[in-house]
This record gives sequence, C-alpha cells and structure tokens, in this order.
Amino acid sequence: MSSLAFVEELELEELHLVRDRATGLRAAVAIHDRTLGPARGGTRLRRYDSLEAVARDAGRLARAMSHKFAVHGLPYGGGKAVILQDEAGARDRALLEARLRAYGEFLNRLGGEFGTGPDYGIGAAEVAVLRSATDHAVGVHSHGLAGRATAAGVRVAIEAGLRAQGLDLAGARVVVQGVGAVGAHLARDLAARGARVAISDVDLERAAALARELGADLLDPASCLSAEADVLAPCATGDVLTSDSIPALRCRVVAGAANEQLAPPELEQAQRLSEAGIIYIPDFVANGGGAILLTGCGEEGRAEDLPRTEQRVAETVRQVCERAAASGCTHYEAAVALAEQRLRVDGVDRAGGEAYPLGS
Ligand code: NAD
Repeated sequence: MSSLAFVEELELEELHLVRDRATGLRAAVAIHDRTLGPARGGTRLRRYDSLEAVARDAGRLARAMSHKFAVHGLPYGGGKAVILQDEAGARDRALLEARLRAYGEFLNRLGGEFGTGPDYGIGAAEVAVLRSATDHAVGVHSHGLAGRATAAGVRVAIEAGLRAQGLDLAGARVVVQGVGAVGAHLARDLAARGARVAISDVDLERAAALARELGADLLDPASCLSAEADVLAPCATGDVLTSDSIPALRCRVVAGAANEQLAPPELEQAQRLSEAGIIYIPDFVANGGGAILLTGCGEEGRAEDLPRTEQRVAETVRQVCERAAASGCTHYEAAVALAEQRLRVDGVDRAGGEAYPLGS
C-alpha cells in the first residue's frame, strides 16, 4: 500500500511537507476540510521516527479539528501542523527558534488559509517567536487561559458522563492522567467540587507537588489507566484507548483533554468501550473549550469569555448525549454524526444557532 494512502483515508484537502535546508526544519501542515471556514489548529513539536509519521499525525489531528469545530458550531476548518523535533533542535534553542521563524515564513505563503497556536511542545514562548515571522499564530498571552477553558469543558463532559451513569461528581473518584496546562486546572476544579481526585504524571515532581496541594492520591504513570475509579480523564497523550488497554479499564466514564484518545480503528475502540459499559465522551467534544476561546475572539482569548465558552461546550455535550440516547449508538458515533451533518448538510449557522461571535 502506498505510504500516502492515509491522505485518501483521512480525506485531507491538502498536505504540505516543509523542509528548510538552512535550518533543518522538517514539518507537515495538514488541512482537512474548509467547508466551514479557513483552517485553524495548533502546531505540535515532537520527536517522530520519520517525516511520514509527522505527516500522518498532522492529518489525523487535522481531521479531529474539523470534527471539533463542526460539532461545536464554529465557522472554521480543521488543520494541524507538526514540526519534527530532533536532538539538535532540543539541544540548541537558537536553532529551534530559527526553525520556528522558517515555519512562520511558510505559513505566510499559505496566506491565512491556516492559522495556528500552541499545542504539545509549543507554548507561549514558541508562539512569540513564530509571531516575529508571521501574523498567522495566536496564543502568546492566552495559552494559560486556553488551558483553563479546556479544563472547564472537560469537567462539564465528566459531569455529563457521570449523570448518564446515574452518578454525581461530588464523591466520584476521578483519575487525571497528565497534570500539565489542562490536567492541573482540571484536578483543582474537580477537587473544589468534591470529587476524590487521583493524579499521575511522568513529571513526578509536578505530580507530587499537585498531589500535596490537593490532598490527592498519587498514582504510578505506568498503571494509572487501569486504576479503579468512576472516571478516567486522559490529559497527556493520544492513543491511550487501545484493544489492549480497554479490557483493563476499571472506570465507568472516560472523558479528558488529550487529542486522539482512541487508537485506530477508532470506531472499534468506541464500541469496545461501550460493550464494557463505559461511557466515552469523545475528545473533540470534551476538549473544545480552548479552541472555542482562541478562535472565537480573534487575536487572543479573554478571561471574560470563559463562562460562555463553558456554556458552549456544555450545550454540545448535551446534544451529543441526547443523540446517543435517542439512537442507542455510542457517544463517539453520535458526535461524529453531528459533526458530519454540520459539515455536509446544515452548515454551521443553521446547525449551531449563532455562529459564535465570542468577541468583537
Ligand atoms: P502539557 O504538555 O501542558 O501537559 C501534558 C502533561 O502530561 C505533562 O505534564 C506531561 O509530563 C504529562 N505526561 C506525558 N505523558 C504522560 C504519561 N504517559 N502519563 C502521565 N503523564 C504524562 O499539555 P496540555 O496543554 O495540558 O494538554 C494535554 C493534552 O490535551 C494534550 O494531548 C493536548 O494536545 C490536549 N489538548 C490541550 C488543549 C489546551 O488548551 N492546552 C486543548 C485541546 C487538547
């Protein structure tokens, strides 16, 4: 099979591979679907085995962004960029910054058809460097705010999942895997609402400090997925729900911030979860808060938009839960169907009510 078969499978509109000789930049920019508007999505910086793996991940993540924007009724298309991190880039900050500027210049050539912001490995400092070369990046000032918005949406999704299982958040045991920008806010929010929180992170110091602050249980990152709990909230990396990991889960609800939690084939994993009696609120539904905040306000998100962002996620979660209950399908199928309907049939204005002018 051709190594580019994934472009067809994922139905990508465009896939750009970027190699800059001067800096050694290697990156992929995937644009999945611009039916609803220009493409938006974060830029990720990570180690990969090959440029092909970079391109494939960018494609999968771009499709998830299309679903995220469509399901939440936002007038944007799905895109994602991935920059390949290597030994030299990790060691030499000046080289990494030169690569970021070269990448920014490439974004200029796309002429605004792809706008980006922070993601795994790209924080406010890296976006600031990008912005020295392009106007098509946001998140210098509101990266932390996006984490809060995302965490608030994840908590809303957790509450909905628990309700569907006849449980309340107060007293529920929630395992948060990964306590970075989103997971730490989530853990604090859950603890403040009376949940019994257990956390884990491969950054052991970070996890220990937060566990002390919250009086939360500290779990071993190697085994936290299968810890006994009411809720598992994956807030670290993707591909955590696999044919191996699902049978070992001991929770009633899965809802978290990490993108692409279901390993391919996604539908099979969703059905496996359902057969195990576990409600899975899809990642692109639960983690839409950051995207809503950053894309809804133009340049940068604003703290005063947080309550409306949370309401927006809550409304989408409600629609997905209703659809799943009415049709007897999984929440994943209900969410994909809702997103596809908005992409292919309704258009965002008719399906989502107002086209979400969060800011001016
Ligand atoms: P982050 O990098 O700030 O935090 C991730 C944390 O997970 C880190 O503390 C890291 O040490 C930890 N981690 C990594 N691998 C782990 C493992 N195997 N077990 C336990 N901990 C592990 O990232 P973030 O901004 O908090 O985002 C978390 C996830 O949510 C990412 O997958 C991101 O793509 C996704 N997401 C984030 C946002 C946002 O607004 N920041 C929005 C949507 C989706």
